Amino acid sequence: MNLPKNIQQPLSLIYLDANATTQVLPQAASAALSTMETLFGNPSSSHISGLQAKQIVDKTRQQAKRIVGAAEGKIIFTSGATEGIQTAILSALVNVKKTLNKSLNNKSYSLLYGATEHKAVPESLKHWNKILEINAEIKAIPVDEKGRLDLEFIAKEVPNALMICTMAVNNETGVYQDISLLDQTIRANNPNIAWMVDCVQALGKTDLVLAQTSIDYAPFSGHKLYAPKGIGFMYVKEKAPFTAFIAGGGQESGLRSGTENLPGLAALSEIFSMLLGESEASFTPIKTLHLYRQQLVSALTQAFPEITFNHSFENSVATTLNFAIPGFSSKEIMDLFDAANIRVSSGSACSSKVTRSFVLDAMGLPAWQSESAIRMSFGPAMTQTEIDIACSRIVSAAQALVQSCLTLDKKNIDTQTMNTSSTTNKTELDGLVQFKAGGSCSWLYVDKKTRSAVFIDPLSEVSERLQTLLTCRGLNLVAVIDTHGHADHKSCRNGIAKKFLAEQQTDYLGWPAGAQTTTIHGQTFQYLILGDKWLIKVATPGHTDDSMSLLLCDPVTDSAEKLQVHYAFCGDLILMDSIGRSNFSTSSAPAMYSSLKLMKSLIGNNSLICPSHDYHNEFTTCLETEMTRNSLLRQVINSEIDIEEFTSKKIKMDKDIINESGSEIMCGALIGACQKVVVREYDSVSLTKAVKKSSDMKLIDIREPHEYALQHDEKFTSNVPLTRLVQFVKEQQQNKEQEFVLVCRSGGRSQLAAQALARLGFENVGHLKGGYALHQY
Ligand code: PLP
Repeated sequence: MNLPKNIQQPLSLIYLDANATTQVLPQAASAALSTMETLFGNPSSSHISGLQAKQIVDKTRQQAKRIVGAAEGKIIFTSGATEGIQTAILSALVNVKKTLNKSLNNKSYSLLYGATEHKAVPESLKHWNKILEINAEIKAIPVDEKGRLDLEFIAKEVPNALMICTMAVNNETGVYQDISLLDQTIRANNPNIAWMVDCVQALGKTDLVLAQTSIDYAPFSGHKLYAPKGIGFMYVKEKAPFTAFIAGGGQESGLRSGTENLPGLAALSEIFSMLLGESEASFTPIKTLHLYRQQLVSALTQAFPEITFNHSFENSVATTLNFAIPGFSSKEIMDLFDAANIRVSSGSACSSKVTRSFVLDAMGLPAWQSESAIRMSFGPAMTQTEIDIACSRIVSAAQALVQSCLTLDKKNIDTQTMNTSSTTNKTELDGLVQFKAGGSCSWLYVDKKTRSAVFIDPLSEVSERLQTLLTCRGLNLVAVIDTHGHADHKSCRNGIAKKFLAEQQTDYLGWPAGAQTTTIHGQTFQYLILGDKWLIKVATPGHTDDSMSLLLCDPVTDSAEKLQVHYAFCGDLILMDSIGRSNFSTSSAPAMYSSLKLMKSLIGNNSLICPSHDYHNEFTTCLETEMTRNSLLRQVINSEIDIEEFTSKKIKMDKDIINESGSEIMCGALIGACQKVVVREYDSVSLTKAVKKSSDMKLIDIREPHEYALQHDEKFTSNVPLTRLVQFVKEQQQNKEQEFVLVCRSGGRSQLAAQALARLGFENVGHLKGGYALHQY
């Protein structure tokens, strides 16, 4: 792909993940530094240094009181919001415990929290409920599709509750609650219940006058608003029950012991001065933040016309956007944006390993929106210039998807920003592409010259993507074929065939009627023509009675000659470290024995096998590799066992197979743990040394073409995305001693690919551990 000139330079960082954390502003950092270097006294000391330090603590407390409208209430400094949450819950529950012991023993009580609350809240409730042996039922308050708490539920449940925890602004969606309505509902039904409101995401984004509410506890965090990590504070209403969470030297009037975090407090004070308009620097007014959001929404909608926003802008703060893009997982969008040097998060940063958002689930949004949610968030230090750059960068990122044919150009994208036209810049597709969804694979083979293409085992999860590719690249679809009637997943064969091959007559698996025939070693086979290759159909029953294998090979010129097979698409006959299960009603182990033998005679030891499953990210295999680790297969191929012995062994084996993994039925009959292979790991220093030493080393970026196009290290001159790894293996089969070093975004994909190559006999493969994330472009 030709890279547009303006984006070949290293890209500046666009940070749009403020709800996870923020940078420390220069004035806050410099205030913190000066307390470390000069005003470093202990606020408890009575000498001048101590008095100076104490003055910083006092000033910050006064500022905090004004900012949150605390009036008579107390402000206690903490390490952050999680500590504030503990303190509030501990205080409320210790108080409840005293009352419970006196009079309330025979009733069952609940602890209420909003279903979209940060995990710190329900986890702390569970923790203290157990430790203090309160044994209340912990109940989530449902929210509606807009994320608003169910007031009727609260009214019904709160009389029987010991504490209620809600949040002012949600960290994933920016949805805010109507505090005064909540206040009325809670107090009308339980005037004395302890009420905590997590105000972390509200600070600097909405106005707060806590003293005008009946809120008992409100935790805040410094690092969400440009102060360092490790400083926070909490508001405690006058006369609210209180138990110190940390005892010791009696700091904070004995409410929170431990020497004060003076640098953190000095930084926080600078931020407070900005919020109070007492500093030369100021934050962007909330009205302008709304305009910024509008600008981002326009750019996103222009870039991804099918985008769906996961929350209503009416009841969310201006600084958070949560959306999903149909056809793309959040991981793919994160990879894309990271390549464009835009930092966003998938769902909540604190739980980014989770693949779906419990917040969006609680709002009842469709599963795909929750699974592919992306959060973009900024803070009040955002500037117009940064927003402008962010918007044009978002458009460039989307354009990279268009250029690699993952989305169609709906003519909405301003190609000016790319300095290039989308049609001239598309990479040509030639050869094999592998698509994955869970443990299943779909295959696309394209002959570049004739633009003819075939889909094999098309999964419904990749249906959109396959169709977009066809249209975008103007390919001529020759056939769309399933290797067998799949038990475990849905094929999108019919839909694609109806749309692109309406006139074609086929059997029910998609093999075209009237295909030509050829003879190989005395047997007749049907074949299709794909450019200068043939796709030969071979009946290989066993896994199911309709199973077939498709061999992509050079044309047969001499029926006595060995077939030159490039790829063998064998469905579930031979899988990586496994052979297909044969305990379905249409299975036959004896037929599988014959099919395995036939395959060996046709494809030999080294042709690449492209099955319909890849449970352990091995991508491809060949008989030689499989025979070294699959003794049953080896025994069949080497004729060490006969059909009867194979059948009895196979029946036994099928009894022990793992039937399902998550929601997937496992089609392989020998599923074990993935065979771990050790590959060389480099960091940037050792790689630079290695490159100097070996002029022949090939450095390969294995991210997808759109990521590569947006930005890559210039040393990594070739791009072999994971979807093209099997083709790469084919091309390099005679070159297995070559040194290859792979890189990706975080080191995850490069490690997988390096291991797969090593397993396939590549002798000198390594990868850059930590990827571009830890090593600069
Ligand atoms: N509550 C909310 C809403 C948050 O967003 C976070 C941080 O992600 C926390 C609590 C925890 O804050 P801290 O990191 O200061 O402990």
